[in-house]
Amino acid sequence: MKSCVYPGSFDPPTNGHIDIIERACGIFPKVYVAVLDNALKKYTFEKKRRIDMLQTATAKWDCVEVVGWDGLLVNLLRELDTRIVLRGLRTSADLELEQQLAIVNGNLLPGVETFVLLSRPHMQYVSSSIVRELIQYGADISEYVPGEILELVRGGIAHEGP
Ligand code: ADP
Repeated sequence: MKSCVYPGSFDPPTNGHIDIIERACGIFPKVYVAVLDNALKKYTFEKKRRIDMLQTATAKWDCVEVVGWDGLLVNLLRELDTRIVLRGLRTSADLELEQQLAIVNGNLLPGVETFVLLSRPHMQYVSSSIVRELIQYGADISEYVPGEILELVRGGIAHEGP
């Protein structure tokens, strides 16, 4: 089995992301978790902090390497010499988006395969946007975010763009 790249914004990482990473470690010998910034999006957490948070939350798994990347995902696949993209699916809305992304990536780099793991039921409602909203209102986020990075998430709202 080959390595895969799990790309996302992870703004911030959640238990849902970590669950996908842990399950991927049981399938792939190497899982690159790639923090990608979309030039058209604004992020709440600085990229370096998102990378730090992921490194802390995945430190217990030797198979995981966290990387930051600016640019097209397919160029990162070339760089890391893999053609497997890993994504997580919660809802049918996620599926539509993933289908579009998979087609575009396949057009840009023939041979790219998107490998999807279905969200486990108790992770289906977990999203970075819910965590961002809860923080805004000072609400408890401990149910949504790995314990090791709770403080990093609580204190890490960026005051500038990506
Ligand atoms: P993006 O901005 O690229 O969608 P995200 O950080 O929001 O990045 O998500 C990265 C990937 O993780 C996506 O495939 C998303 O569907 C998946 N994901 C996010 N939350 C969950 C969850 N709770 N369970 C399973 N997959 C998830």
